[in-house]
Amino acid sequence: MPLVNGFDLIDIIKERHVVAGAFNTTNLETTIGILNAVEKSGIPAFIQIAPTNIPVSGYGYIADMVNRYAKEMDTPIALHLDHGKSFDSVRQAARAGFTSVMTDNAKYDYEENIQHTYEAVQFAKGYGIPVEAELGAIAGKEDDDITKGNNKTNPDQVVDFVERTGVNLLAVAVGNVHGLDLNPNIDFPLLKKIREICPVPLVLHGASGIPDEQVAQMVDNGVVKINVASDLRRAYIQSAGKSYEEDPDRFDLVNVSLAAEKAVENVVYHKIQVMNQNPPTPVHREAKK
Ligand SMILES: [Zn+2]
Repeated sequence: MPLVNGFDLIDIIKERHVVAGAFNTTNLETTIGILNAVEKSGIPAFIQIAPTNIPVSGYGYIADMVNRYAKEMDTPIALHLDHGKSFDSVRQAARAGFTSVMTDNAKYDYEENIQHTYEAVQFAKGYGIPVEAELGAIAGKEDDDITKGNNKTNPDQVVDFVERTGVNLLAVAVGNVHGLDLNPNIDFPLLKKIREICPVPLVLHGASGIPDEQVAQMVDNGVVKINVASDLRRAYIQSAGKSYEEDPDRFDLVNVSLAAEKAVENVVYHKIQVMNQNPPTPVHREAKK
């Protein structure tokens, strides 16, 4: 099927009471590894890329690759811009055919965050795609950028922020951290409090370091999208490193690439299972390629 609009993907997710993984890609091998796993799982998902990883290819190549594979898939997939820190990145992604975007204005103070987020939401309306924004600052190594902030989402700001920006998805900082090396601990009372008052579905970033049993509880806490990036990259790099260690003189790049692709696929498939321990209507399909 063609790439699915982010609004439709969220509707499907809510209807099926499952969580969409949102997996960060960088290049062709990562893209194919992610999409193989999504198709095998049968559970709708987002594939996403942040501007930090765009230099390898550009928005257009990523959109073309994902579109090409999506046409051969039976599992709904949306293409999302992760951590769009400038209006220009949001615009470039929308023009390239991304079906969902994040505008990340966490570096601004509250009022400025609202203003920039509102502008991105108004812009995205022209493309008919949903906008995710972050309230509070998620600590850690954010998609190769180091984030110093560590402010949990203030529940008193949630309704005001969503209403004034018109944002469609809210990324929350509830003890989740970006990257692998920190010790995340989800503040479930805070998450539940936000869920009760928030008019839009929630997104959890930084799932790579969160214990599986905490990830598994997200579906019952109003979270529709869980971002995973670091785990995939580590799997890819470790696979390539292992190939090198086996034979520093090897030149069969194709096998090194295929092994890295498979390593990404295995991690993504595992993550999807962890997020959806008891999916009500599991659909297992063979990955196409
Ligand atoms: Zn993030």
